[in-house]
Amino acid sequence: MSAKVRLYVDHPLGAGQTVPLDRDQAHYLFGVMRLETGARVALFNGRDGEWQAEVAEAGKRGGALTCVEQSKPLQLPPDLWLIFAPIKKARTDFIVEKATEMGAARIMPVATDFTNSERIRQDRLQAHGVEAAEQCGGTFVPEVAELQKLSTLLDQWPTERQLMFCDEGEVGQRLFLDATQAGVAAGPWAILIGPEGGFSEGERKRLHRMEQAHVVSLGPRILRADTAAVAALTLWQHTLGDW
Ligand code: SAM
Repeated sequence: MSAKVRLYVDHPLGAGQTVPLDRDQAHYLFGVMRLETGARVALFNGRDGEWQAEVAEAGKRGGALTCVEQSKPLQLPPDLWLIFAPIKKARTDFIVEKATEMGAARIMPVATDFTNSERIRQDRLQAHGVEAAEQCGGTFVPEVAELQKLSTLLDQWPTERQLMFCDEGEVGQRLFLDATQAGVAAGPWAILIGPEGGFSEGERKRLHRMEQAHVVSLGPRILRADTAAVAALTLWQHTLGDW
């Protein structure tokens, strides 16, 4: 019998392994989902694949599960970073959720010259990543990085990482459909999406000069940043990723 409930736990998983539950997890499993001793739960921790576990102890403030068998191996996403400038809260949450579902390996909020939001709650965004992974059947949770300056990130850019630079100033010009034609290959990549105000001229000039940058148009209309993130992830995954 396979479990209906999937739960992320920060604990090693393996045959016979006991996994203790904290108060929130116990509340969710026994208070909200009404599971009882013996019920099955699917567990993953981002490292050991997915495991079917049985409820061994069910309490109001805690409990324990016992791992029975592995139901999925660990499936890592391609080495793809999604770099974006945070926008309004709900739309930023949406970007983290969709990037997790669509298979980004790392989610990196950056402050650009025209960024709308100077602060993020990294812990809250990370929790959205965990929830999205629980819901989509993934066995990996992308790390949501702390906010950093785009200029600092570009100063330390790794030479081997290609950059899909989504430039609204290139509307209708260059497409990213045929990777072989564009001379691009799989390997470490990043997607960069700008804020509502777009990139500054200084940023655009710098990005256009970068050896690793592939300037990409997402069609003849200007997309909102959250739509652009989903469109770019789709295009990249379809062309170079694991879809
Ligand atoms: N304020 C800008 C303007 O009106 O020109 C639009 C910025 S757009 C809302 C936010 C980000 O989404 C852009 O910086 C870019 O990274 C991406 N984007 C949106 N539409 C795009 C398109 N058609 N081609 C490439 N990138 C696009």
